[in-house]
Amino acid sequence: MKFNLNLFEKILNNVDKPGRYIGGEFGETVKSKIDGEVSVAFCFPDTYEIGMSNLGMKILYGALNAEDFIRCERCFAPWIDMEAQLRENNLPLFTLESKTPLSEFDVVAFSMQYELCYTNVLNMLSLADIPLLAKDRDESYPLILGGGHCTYNSEPMADFFDIISIGEGEIVLPSLMGLYRQCRDEGVLKQEFLQRATKVDGMYVPSLYEVEYKDDGTLKSFTPKNGAPAKITKAIVENLDEAYYPSNPIVPYLSTIHDRIMLEVFRGCIRGCRFCQAGMVYRPYREKSADKLNLLAVDCVKNTGYNEISLLSLSISDYSELPKLTDEMLKWTDEKKINISLPSMRVDSFYKDLMEKVMSVRQSGITFAPEAGSQRLRDVINKNISEEDILKACDVAFAGGKDAIKLYFINGLPTETDEDIVAIPQLAKKIVDHYFASPYRQKGKSISVTVSVSCFVPKPFTPFQWFGQNNIEELIRKQKLLSTSIESKRISHKWHEAKVSRLEAIFSRGNRRLSEVLVEAHRRGMRFDSWDEFYDYSKWIQIFDDCGVAMSFYAEREIPFDELLPWDHIDCGVSKEFLIKEAKKSIEGTVTPDCRTQCSGCGANKLGGVRRCCL
Ligand code: SF4
Repeated sequence: MKFNLNLFEKILNNVDKPGRYIGGEFGETVKSKIDGEVSVAFCFPDTYEIGMSNLGMKILYGALNAEDFIRCERCFAPWIDMEAQLRENNLPLFTLESKTPLSEFDVVAFSMQYELCYTNVLNMLSLADIPLLAKDRDESYPLILGGGHCTYNSEPMADFFDIISIGEGEIVLPSLMGLYRQCRDEGVLKQEFLQRATKVDGMYVPSLYEVEYKDDGTLKSFTPKNGAPAKITKAIVENLDEAYYPSNPIVPYLSTIHDRIMLEVFRGCIRGCRFCQAGMVYRPYREKSADKLNLLAVDCVKNTGYNEISLLSLSISDYSELPKLTDEMLKWTDEKKINISLPSMRVDSFYKDLMEKVMSVRQSGITFAPEAGSQRLRDVINKNISEEDILKACDVAFAGGKDAIKLYFINGLPTETDEDIVAIPQLAKKIVDHYFASPYRQKGKSISVTVSVSCFVPKPFTPFQWFGQNNIEELIRKQKLLSTSIESKRISHKWHEAKVSRLEAIFSRGNRRLSEVLVEAHRRGMRFDSWDEFYDYSKWIQIFDDCGVAMSFYAEREIPFDELLPWDHIDCGVSKEFLIKEAKKSIEGTVTPDCRTQCSGCGANKLGGVRRCCL
């Protein structure tokens, strides 16, 4: 299939938001094709607006293009109207920078951040006229590379990728491209390249592993072949101050989900919440220095013109230089009317001076994440916050004139009882009463408390990976119990669709037997499953049934600690022994202190056999 620019320009008139497909934005990197280059089509399996808000994509696009021999271009999942135009006009999927078909690149890389985007990966491959399964692609096809958060269990997608990059890519991906160029120049074929690539940190070549199952569908063995390593150790960036970071990110034409500067402050987390995958897989904890961050912020503002900077991390108030950083930044941001936002603030470290500092430019509501309504369940999940912490943080918010509080909770957590569910609206009611008793309450003003509840999804590399998800009926029953237990009209209740979280749970704990389900789902036109208007659970039930695969086996099953897990061949630093210990403590309801209080020996400080200090 050839790309026809004139035809493309014609069909742009027939689609919504043509700005999704044209490129040419401020900050875009357009390189001319050179001999000996390695060309990479960097694909995000969702729309432009979502992909362009993904920090990982910004970092890797920049880190790859920072190498002279690499030409990296972007591609996003085309919306259904553009997909129809491409299929109707027999046009291949293309990149934004040079409108080059994906099939003409050396490497086509996919960033996988959400399990419900898996069908979009297959749809993009088919729109690029590239066979879905790795076994069906010969040397004439690009190398298909996977990466991103979901690769901590990439087994459901393993059959579609030639190679998967596990961990942080800004250093290893350019190295992998260097190896690709060397092998090409030596005339080495793909299989040999893949063999050599297993020596690069974090590189997992699924075709080099044999998987066997027991009659009950659990894993019997996972055997490396041809000298492939038994364990793939995730790649990390040791020194974030020295690593590549985009100081002139692309400024999209369209408004995107996160239309501001995103400044990553640190990686990892010292807290150890037992449901949180990011808090485990991004360990060990590593900070960027305040001086470096302030310089980056100055450059980003100069190069983009954005008037908001978001300081990103898993728990911003744990950043050891936060007062210094905000003081340094406020010296110039205030004058330029640039807003600093601090998402992910913990309730137990929500201080008046910090709120006054960062809220000095713009008033906004406050969001806290207790995750569980009762103290018993907060201890089970190791949240390490008390009701007193929550009310104290509300005092600080009320003193700052806040009267809109949003609270995040999770429904269906391990050991959860109906008392725990009812404790959620009870806590919200206590906050309402606390407001009306507060000396900071402004005359005639009232409060709104939003209770936003997601469904528990057991995630690999968490202490809760062995616990099953409640079935849909039970999740919905609990959502109704919560709604009917709300006793104040100042409390509103929002919840996630249990049917969506179920599919996420299936693919989160899935194995390679799910690739057949995904191929069938693609064949039946499933895509954009993360969008309400497209998600059709009844179709998914039919697909699983027709493939003879039980959804409950993956989502609901309580997994024994001694069972071989589909992700046991990956070393994310945090040891299985530590996760089992934490899982047992959760059943007892005992907490583990944060890393600053005491190291609990998760193993991340010994990742890859390199001893390092986490704090
Ligand atoms: S090794 Fe210790 S200090 Fe480091 S992340 Fe793990 S528990 Fe925390």
